[in-house]
Order: sequence, then C-alpha cells, then structure tokens
Amino acid sequence: MKTATGTTVIERGQLVDGTGASAVPDSAVLIRDGRIAYAGPAACAPQAPPDAVRIDARGGTIMPGLVEAHFHPTYFDVAELVDLDIKYPVEFVTLLAAANARLALECGYTAARSGGSLFNIDVWLKKAIEEELTPGPRLAASGREICGAGGLMDWNPDFRKIGMEGLVLLINGADEGRRAVRKLVKDGVEWVKTYPTGDAAAPDTNDHHTLCMTFEEMHAVVAEAHNHRLKVTGHCRATEGIKNALRAGYDTLEHGTFMDAEALDMLLARDTPVIPALQFEYASIERGPEFGMSQAVIDGHQETLEGGAESARMILRAGGRVGLGGDYGFAWNPHGDYAKEISFFVNYVGFTPLLAIRAATKTGAEIMGRAAEFGTLAAGKLADVLVVDGDPLADIRVLEDRSRFIAVMQGGVIKAGRRAGADTEAGARERAVGASDGPNGSPAADLRAAAGR
Ligand SMILES: [Zn+2]
Repeated sequence: MKTATGTTVIERGQLVDGTGASAVPDSAVLIRDGRIAYAGPAACAPQAPPDAVRIDARGGTIMPGLVEAHFHPTYFDVAELVDLDIKYPVEFVTLLAAANARLALECGYTAARSGGSLFNIDVWLKKAIEEELTPGPRLAASGREICGAGGLMDWNPDFRKIGMEGLVLLINGADEGRRAVRKLVKDGVEWVKTYPTGDAAAPDTNDHHTLCMTFEEMHAVVAEAHNHRLKVTGHCRATEGIKNALRAGYDTLEHGTFMDAEALDMLLARDTPVIPALQFEYASIERGPEFGMSQAVIDGHQETLEGGAESARMILRAGGRVGLGGDYGFAWNPHGDYAKEISFFVNYVGFTPLLAIRAATKTGAEIMGRAAEFGTLAAGKLADVLVVDGDPLADIRVLEDRSRFIAVMQGGVIKAGRRAGADTEAGARERAVGASDGPNGSPAADLRAAAGR
C-alpha cells in the first residue's frame, strides 16, 4: 500500500492517541511522507512547510484508525448457518468481500484481522488491497477454518453430498489437524481459525457448552502452525474449550465466553488477547425474532451475552487484553455496524470510552502483530488516522456515524470521509468510484439486491 508524500497537518482537535492516555486538547498531528512526525499539543508542534496540506478537525477528535479484530469479509446477510456456505458462488462472494472491505474502510477501520473466510478469498483480497486494486483495511488473512467432524461447522447431513469445502477443513484426529494446517500454509494465510467449541446457534448437538475439537487436535494444530510462523485462534465459548486453547498455546481467543477463575489465571499468565464480539449476541437477541430465530437459540444467545460480558469485565479488571471486533455480516448484525461493538463495550459492558478506543486501536494492532506500525498515534508510525467531527469520549456513538468522519487516512493518504476528494489523488479516485451514501449505506447491500436477495 502506498504512503503519502509531502507534509500534512491535522489541527484544531483533541488528540486521543490510542494508548488509553487522557485526551490532549488543542493538539496537532504532523505527518511527513505518510508517517507521523509529531502528535501532541499544538503549541509544541514543529513548523510545517507552507505547502503542507492542512486538515481542520473543527474542534473534534484526532485518533488512530480503528482495527476490526474479527472480520468476516465473505459473510453476507447470513440468516442461518447454511447461508455461510452455499448461498452464492465463489465469484459473487469475492465481489461481496471487496464491497465489504471498502465499507469497513469508509467506517474508519484502517486495519482488520480476518476471523475466517470462504475459499481463501481474504488472502487474495489482502493482496488486492495492498496493491490498491480495491480499497480496504490492511488485512490479516485466515482463509478456511478448521473444525472437528460433526462439530459446529459440519452441519450438512451426508446424504446431501456437500462437504463444506469452501468454508471449513473438517478433521478427525491430530494427523488431520496437521494436514489441514499444512494446506493453509500453502494457501498463504497468517492466522489459523479453529472451532474448539460450539455455539448458541446450534442448540441441539453443538451448543456453547459443547467441545468440537479435542485437546490433541488443538495442540497438533498449534505446533504445526507455529512451526510455519502462523498464529492460531479459535471460537472458544465453553470453559473447558477456553482452557484447552490456552494450554495448547493459542495466540488469541475469540469470544472467551465462559471464563472461570482458573481460565482467567491461565489467560493472564500468557497475556493472551480475547476478542469477545458481544454486539453480535445483543443483536441476535434483539432482532433474531424478525428472522425466525428459535427461542432455544435466542435463550442461548442471552446466556452467551451475559457470560461474555462478565468475562470481559473480569479481564478488564485484571489488566488483561481485550480486542474489539465481531462477526458483522449476519442479517441482524450487518457489515457497516462495526463501531457498534465499541459503543456496546462502553454502554453495556462498562469500559470507559478511552479504554474501549484503546481496545479498538492499540490492542487490535497488537493482535495483528503490527503494533510497531500502527494502532497508536506516535512519531514514526504509519499515519493511519481517523479525524472525527465530534467527541467520542462524550458520546462514543459518534464513531458509528461515518457522516461525522472528516478524514480516514492510511499511510497519510485520505481514503474516505468528507475530505476525500478535496485535495488528494486517492480522494479523487474515491469520488470517481462513488462512495456509498449515509451512515448505513452499503455497496454490498446493492450487490445483493442486484442478485435478487
Ligand atoms: Zn466469527
């Protein structure tokens, strides 16, 4: 991905640098050749040359670009499990994924870690974004997910003769776990996403207290993945699944729903980040009935929501790391709603806005293994910056409304927001391809409408 050339000054805003430190009023951020040269009080800022591009933050906020830590670029209007698999052909899903990536960037997300993708699409989407063929967050790719046979992600009965080959690699035993990871190594993923446990979505045979992989399978996956310098994460709800993942050496936990004191101790000892993804549970309870969700599933989501929120509070109180992201792409939790996760952690879970923003920026970059490059606003880092006309510390929900974004920048290039198109080549390109309208408009929704659904 290219970085900007020349100097840009962002001024007349408060600085929220992503570290969790208090906001700095009347601050300035100076960007030189795509990297931050200064971030701090305007009074101490170095002189900018007369030809510097100036961005007026209008009394708003200058903060790091957001990091979506559990991004499913290929999910699209999923209303039931089968929609994850065979609803559309791979060609169309690829286009949807590109549209979702562009939407995420417009929503202020300058980086994202995939939580799993159909058909290895995220590996190639990442390449297309890096080569600027299509706009989107800096991606970490996961490709297909791994699950034990008969587990959460293996729902098609054998008589249908559908083997889930686009979505998951189904394994029986440690050897097949190694084989699956070796395939993913060749596919070019950076993360291996697994299913140690079930979920409220499958109340009959794979609910949220069910294990879907053995410890031996998980351990084999981790050993093989780490040998090839890949990281491993997993869908961990049941307490024993969380402990298995920590013992096996997982690099992060998705959900970490039902933590007990022993699991928390193990988590803290390893400093393993957890990505709870709780707005999804809330949205499932609130809007599930509209989509015909059964009461058993809704009850499961309620239990998961309460367990997950309590675990997140335990981790926060104990000084552990929480990343924010969350399964957007379901019919009741669509792409474009990403920042609702941040609001949820403030308004429901009880994080302060500063800590929720840190989770959505600095911790996200740490999870991606790229904290030295972005995630906070500090001299030397890439200028991945979000300039907001508003104060998210007073009302966190301003981050949900992209009409309030003055600039979304990657490497100092303005990619979205009101200033896109004002004075940059990238902005002109953005205008030419037609940024979608309003806070909730979605190019993927237009694509889906064209496909008749
Ligand atoms: Zn997910």
